[in-house]
Amino acid sequence: MFNIESYRKAGSVAEAVRLLRENPLARLIAGGTDVLVKLRKNQEGFHHLVDIHDIAELKCITRTADGDLVIGAGSCFTAVAESPLIRRYVPVLAQAVRTIGGPQVRNMATIGGNLCNGVPSADSAPPLLALNAVLTIEGGAGPRQMPLEDFFQGPGRVALEQHEVLTAISVARDNYAGYYGHYDKYAMRAAMDIATIGCAAVCRLEDGRLQDLRLAFATAAPVPIRCKATEDRVRGRRISPELLDDIARAVTKDLQPRTSWRATKEFRLQIIATLAHRGVRQAILEAGGSIA
Ligand SMILES: Cc1cc2nc3c(=O)[nH]c(=O)nc-3n(C[C@H](O)[C@H](O)[C@H](O)COP(=O)(O)OP(=O)(O)OC[C@H]3O[C@@H](n4cnc5c(N)ncnc54)[C@H](O)[C@@H]3O)c2cc1C
Repeated sequence: MFNIESYRKAGSVAEAVRLLRENPLARLIAGGTDVLVKLRKNQEGFHHLVDIHDIAELKCITRTADGDLVIGAGSCFTAVAESPLIRRYVPVLAQAVRTIGGPQVRNMATIGGNLCNGVPSADSAPPLLALNAVLTIEGGAGPRQMPLEDFFQGPGRVALEQHEVLTAISVARDNYAGYYGHYDKYAMRAAMDIATIGCAAVCRLEDGRLQDLRLAFATAAPVPIRCKATEDRVRGRRISPELLDDIARAVTKDLQPRTSWRATKEFRLQIIATLAHRGVRQAILEAGGSIA
């Protein structure tokens, strides 16, 4: 079956950190929907496991007195999609995680695992990037914080030490209040498929103008990525069909997707332009704006 040489189950974050420190070969397993796939392929690196799946402190989704949202890294996608707080304050995240795998996968797979796996196709990453999410990481010397934007280092690589645990993902109130968003994913199949391109658009309007826009993509670069140049180019502009066309053009200059067995670079650029146009349009309509 799986070539597992050691397996320890942690009852708390502190215990997980201790077990990781005791065995430098050990890696975390949460929902196992990536780890078990790697083990089945006998991929190196996962023969010593520390299981964090049942740590209750990692499964809370809360809102602080200041209105900041805090999502436990061990929250499964079904819990995230069904959370009244997520649905009310950041529905774009619920929309994105509902596109992940199928019900069985969503019941097991965690939002922390999705980020820590470090793949460019992680569907939870674009909405969280567009919401300026901040990560809390525990390694035994007290929690440290890091903007999600600085977390992705390359395909499969994230800014985590071997003994560290991602404990929470936070979205500050100022980053979601008054914002409306839309997530769209192009994949070869309508379900149970990895994104060929995923796009999150989050905007805030004022007097018929785009007061702020945040755009982020999956599988459009070696890591999930924001389109800062496009955002800066259109911030403050009056909403019009020409604005959407301009955004669709600008993002294809902002991103350099690669060709893979799923799609050519040219096809990806076409999808990127289409999803950006559609996503911003939908976010503006969600915000009560009109495109005349
Ligand atoms: C059939 C199928 C369909 C899928 N479809 C999609 C899809 O449509 N979109 C998509 O984005 N993904 C998809 N996935 C991938 C996968 O489900 C997700 O990436 C999932 O979020 C991984 O979470 P997990 O809890 O299962 O992680 P695990 O497999 O347990 O761990 C993944 C990695 O993260 C590390 N890790 C996990 N939790 C932590 C933590 N708290 N702190 C530090 N490191 C941690 C582990 O050590 C490991 O390296 C699919 C997978 C399958 C099997």
